[in-house]
Amino acid sequence: MALAAITSLAGCAVVPSDPGVEAGASAEPRALIEIPSERPERPDLTGAPDAVAALLEAEAGHLTTGPDRFAVWVCEVPTDTTSSAYQPAGIRLDLDPAELTDAFNITVTDYFLELSHGAYTPQFEAGGRIELTDTEGPTECIARATELTDDAPGVIAIATAEHRQGTSGGFGDDGASCDAAEPWPCASSVTGRGVYLGASDFHPDWGAVPALDLLEHEIGHVLGWPHSGDLASPYASSIDVMSNSAGPRDVDAAERNGQGTLAVNLLAAGWIPLDDAVVVPAEGSEVTLRPSQSDTGARLAIVPLDATRFLTVEYLRAEGVHGHLPASGVTVTLVSTAESSCASSETERSCRVQETLVGEAPFVDLLAEGESWRGDGWSVEVTALVTDTVELRIAPSP
Ligand SMILES: [Zn+2]
Repeated sequence: MALAAITSLAGCAVVPSDPGVEAGASAEPRALIEIPSERPERPDLTGAPDAVAALLEAEAGHLTTGPDRFAVWVCEVPTDTTSSAYQPAGIRLDLDPAELTDAFNITVTDYFLELSHGAYTPQFEAGGRIELTDTEGPTECIARATELTDDAPGVIAIATAEHRQGTSGGFGDDGASCDAAEPWPCASSVTGRGVYLGASDFHPDWGAVPALDLLEHEIGHVLGWPHSGDLASPYASSIDVMSNSAGPRDVDAAERNGQGTLAVNLLAAGWIPLDDAVVVPAEGSEVTLRPSQSDTGARLAIVPLDATRFLTVEYLRAEGVHGHLPASGVTVTLVSTAESSCASSETERSCRVQETLVGEAPFVDLLAEGESWRGDGWSVEVTALVTDTVELRIAPSP
């Protein structure tokens, strides 16, 4: 149906919700955690390959760890709108910022707490309603939301009208970096940091809990994460919330969250420390990895290619945030921070392209024990795969 079609265009995927928690249920609201006024410490980049250091340096001035705060606004779209974004003569949903906020504070906050192992806590507070004029659309909706927001570093702006079929369901903006001269964290009115969504994911047909994977995908963009998978088809991969975020729902129609994300995003956000990335030397090495979604241990291997490109190798375990995968296994991503990546980059802070190299879309056919991948002058062989670890032979392969 149209709802699913629109949503799946803009990303996808999964984390089984806590079965004991229903959005909209009368759970105790979490107490708001204040955002510290000191800037987060930057990681020690000694020994990091140049391309990895460039990626991590680009994170300075952006909020990706600790508590975060988003003001939630609803943009009322008039029925006579001339904006080309919206379905002509479409319905208007009666969306309440406070009710949306309650749902986000349970399901979306839990999703990011699980994904980050407690390193990142997005929090939502009700903003209010904005009446768009008949000529205003998505750009004006988020711009007015940021103008009206006092000090929250982010906004979520949601329109009451569904987008036209075949168009993207929303967008996320990581905003300008918070200048070192400004108090930390900068307000979204200064940076433009925030998410805009059309109404499709909040249609009553979704039931008690709306589809939240697209919001999680767009918050991923706010965190600086680019799309991944097939470069020509950025919503085709089911192994990353930054591609087809509806991948988990394609497996279980009751799923409302997105799946996990690639280890390179967890590294960039500071949710996997650099110490837990294994840098493979030029002569190759044997590497033992824990699943990328573990909370400790070596969780990704980095193979430097040149000053702007590297490969990441990671073990996706088919449970938790990757519970929709048919089987556990290993994938390889080509990460490029080259200038030429800028044209296709969706975020402001780094021109970063992340291409999945193992298999074809939806990329869920991962490398199993005994299988290998070859490309970009390297080979990756899975020599052993047990529940909690994978052993790899990563070697140059001219
Ligand atoms: Zn996107």
